[in-house]
Amino acid sequence: MDEKTIFEKIIAGEVAAEVLLENEVAIIIRDINPQAPIHVLIIPKKKISRVGEATSEDGNLLGELLLVAKDFANANNLPSFRLVINSGRQAGETVPHLHIHLLSGRPMAWPPG
Ligand code: AMP
Repeated sequence: MDEKTIFEKIIAGEVAAEVLLENEVAIIIRDINPQAPIHVLIIPKKKISRVGEATSEDGNLLGELLLVAKDFANANNLPSFRLVINSGRQAGETVPHLHIHLLSGRPMAWPPG
């Protein structure tokens, strides 16, 4: 079995993190290295390594994660926010456990770097 990722350890309570929300399917934590005034991670409790390895069975879960992100933005009065998912090392993935970055609180450029 693969070694646990940092996010699995956080979900299991083995590593401390600033947990902003927890429900049946996901947790939201503050990113330890924020790239915007608000930078949180929406992390499913189910271990899916990356979007590139999701299956059709994960369809509902993937949709729920977007709704969790939307609810967080609404609850925190964030009319503008960016969601980012890095899938694969070249795309910037550093933790092989699917997560959605939610960034807000500053103007965002396009294209991203
Ligand atoms: P990615 O590069 O897309 O895989 O995103 C991983 C993110 O996890 C990065 O933005 C890191 O800053 C963040 N991160 C890594 N370890 C922790 C931790 N212990 N607590 C909170 N965020 C973390």
